[in-house]
Amino acid sequence: MPPLIELSGVTKTYFVGGGRLDVLKGIDLRIEAGEFVAIMGPSGSGKSTLMQILGLLDRPGAGAYKLLGLDVSRLSDDEGAALRSRTIGFVFQMFNLLARTSARDNVGLPMLYTGEPGRARRAAEVLREVGLGDRMDHAPNQLSGGQQQRVAIARALVNRPRLIFADEPTGNLASQQAEEILGRLIEMNRSGITVVMVTHEPDIAAYAKRIIRLKDGVIVSDEANPAPRGDHGEPAALRATTLDGVPPIRELSGEELLEHVRSALGAIRANKLRSALSMLGILIGVTAVIAMLAIGRGAQKSVETQLSGLGSNLIMLWPVSPRTAGGPRGGMGSFSRLTLEDAAMIARAHPGIARAAGEVSGSGQAVFGDKNVNTSLTGAMPEYEQMRNSSPFYGRFFTAEENDRMARVALLGPTVVASLFGEQDPVGRTISIEHIKFKVIGVLTRKGSSGFQDQDDKIIIPLKTAMKRVLGRQYLSMVDIEAVSPEDTDAVIAAVRALMRKRHRLPDYKDDDFMLRNMAEIQAALSGTSKIFSLLLGIVAAISLVVGGIGIMNIMLVSVSERTREIGLRKAIGATRRAVLIQFLIEAAAMSTCGGLMGIALGMSIAFALAAFAGWAAIVTPQSVILAFFFSAGTGVVFGFWPARKASLLSPIEALRYE
Ligand code: ADP
Ligand code: MG
Repeated sequence: MPPLIELSGVTKTYFVGGGRLDVLKGIDLRIEAGEFVAIMGPSGSGKSTLMQILGLLDRPGAGAYKLLGLDVSRLSDDEGAALRSRTIGFVFQMFNLLARTSARDNVGLPMLYTGEPGRARRAAEVLREVGLGDRMDHAPNQLSGGQQQRVAIARALVNRPRLIFADEPTGNLASQQAEEILGRLIEMNRSGITVVMVTHEPDIAAYAKRIIRLKDGVIVSDEANPAPRGDHGEPAALRATTLDGVPPIRELSGEELLEHVRSALGAIRANKLRSALSMLGILIGVTAVIAMLAIGRGAQKSVETQLSGLGSNLIMLWPVSPRTAGGPRGGMGSFSRLTLEDAAMIARAHPGIARAAGEVSGSGQAVFGDKNVNTSLTGAMPEYEQMRNSSPFYGRFFTAEENDRMARVALLGPTVVASLFGEQDPVGRTISIEHIKFKVIGVLTRKGSSGFQDQDDKIIIPLKTAMKRVLGRQYLSMVDIEAVSPEDTDAVIAAVRALMRKRHRLPDYKDDDFMLRNMAEIQAALSGTSKIFSLLLGIVAAISLVVGGIGIMNIMLVSVSERTREIGLRKAIGATRRAVLIQFLIEAAAMSTCGGLMGIALGMSIAFALAAFAGWAAIVTPQSVILAFFFSAGTGVVFGFWPARKASLLSPIEALRYE
């Protein structure tokens, strides 16, 4: 049967500031299963270093270490962690319990890393064994020093180790509590567990059955203690004493992930203000993106619905202020003018033209009874009904004859109807528009608002009535031209252009003093605007996610250095690098996702508020919400990676020494 521990020629050297410090200078040591050993020596003699090597927390510089016959001197970090979690328990001078975590969860922690089921039950069982059955739900700051060390002992026992290492386990305790702890260690030893205890106090070492003295890195004496203090009694039968090999390194379990999510949310809750401030960047960015996407989408949608009714063979002509190449801008008088005669000439300009209709627009006050509204006025020709897809919802459109005799008839948009008539039927009633009496002959179909402008807040009256009686205009605001078929539009535009340049007597060196656009161009211009909008939005999103991500990275770095001891402890009790990495990644992602979710909620509220109170069309699409969610979670993962990696690479001994 191989000894439990067999060291031969083990050395350890530290290189500090160019100097060389031989801490262990060739240690030969055998410890059999079931022993209770105290390692003694003055401070700085290398006791802790030796114990860390024995506990697989550190590797020897030279020499061999066999644990139950298995050579373990060159295990990787993760292999060491896997073996440690199943065979070795640690008790430290500083109890190293997780703050804000119940005794039960502290004790169960090592089982998280072995994936053993029944964590809560087993933890409760061991806590009862150490006499803390009534303190399961107490956090470390609700326990005395002695009780905390008993919790630490329970944690060391929870995975049924064969070996317990205790480094100055009573160093921080009053003597009565120290006695209690030693009693527990003796009890463990009687149950068949080998105990190796480091201490510099002879009083404490006196409890061990064998005392090894260390000085300046060499063993100076090694003798049995014939009369150890405490009730050692008869030891129980020893546990199986061979190792088949290093246990496989476990895959991460779902339960472990869940536990990390839970503890990440706990950490966020414990540092509310700090977490909230770190999330702020992500929150603001996501809010802005969600709200802006909703507004952009709403505007695009209503423009689309407006345009979709219009044929692709529609061409629009507007007057513009001309700019001569290099010369000064034309004065007021040079603003081009479109007349009814222009419209009539255009209608005959090319065989590809089906019809052309002039239009004026302005605004005015409409009054019915004691109600009045300011609304937009459109003077149109009867062709408007078909060319602009503006058939009345009910009632009728006006006729060419009514236009010619400047009849006072009007069609009202639904918004105007609602303001003036409420629930009453407006058709057949008389209203006054700019103090002139009009008969209402129809109600326009609802078109909705296009982001900033309510398309239903309008009145349509005959063109000539508008020009001569209401608005007092000589010139048209625009001319709608309909080509016979979409293929004709280019030829039609060329013909109209030539005609208009001739009629306006434009010399060749001057630019057009009008603008001609077909529907395809208008649509392209609109979608071009929305492309620029999307690009700007993307830039805003990217900047805010980077800023938010840096905020989270910063706080994660703080958190990693604050919790160095915790990380060391987790590694000592069996966490692999990957487990630590994942734990911190989850924490970063949880924080950024919380920020993202709050941003989504806030952005949606803003969009709905704009829709409800300002009448803007704002549409929150599920895609934008999903996108925002994954981008914010992803930001946490990306920016949390470096801090998390830093945590995962910490060595357990460095971390446990960290003050
Ligand atoms: P102790 O017997 O008091 O437990 P240690 O084993 O902790 O002694 O330390 C032994 C010597 O090694 C000390 O002089 C200490 O300064 C030095 N030492 C320990 N850890 C390191 C390290 N990581 N780097 C450099 N020197 C170290
Ligand atoms: Mg020490």
